[in-house]
Amino acid sequence: MKISHIEHLGIAVKSIEEALPYYEKTLGLKCYNIETVEDQKVKTAFLKCGETKIELLEPTSPDSTIAKFIENRGMGVHHVAFAIEDGVANALSEADAQGIRLIDKSPRKGAENLNIAFLHPKSTMGVLTELCEK
Ligand code: ZN
Repeated sequence: MKISHIEHLGIAVKSIEEALPYYEKTLGLKCYNIETVEDQKVKTAFLKCGETKIELLEPTSPDSTIAKFIENRGMGVHHVAFAIEDGVANALSEADAQGIRLIDKSPRKGAENLNIAFLHPKSTMGVLTELCEK
């Protein structure tokens, strides 16, 4: 697969409202979009940081995977998302052929209307890895 850059870092927070002053006032980043991804039970806030972005993830339900992540590990970095130049579907079949455990067998729609798919942290040295393309 061909990666052009880190598309975003996903960071789990209990509350976007409480997290934003740190990112905006202290770090000086700008939040340009807040959206809820219903099927993921998550509210997301995006901040530009040069070529990459910070994606804040707030659970919208106690059974959201983000709620479980925070319960088990506390707030913090949740996943790393790479921008794939030659297609997420192609990247998935390459990873699959190398024995990497896939969370998504095929690309699906994520926040910001990107095509996304996740690789399982058990196969990626503990880092939940998102592959995405426009
Ligand atoms: Zn993400």
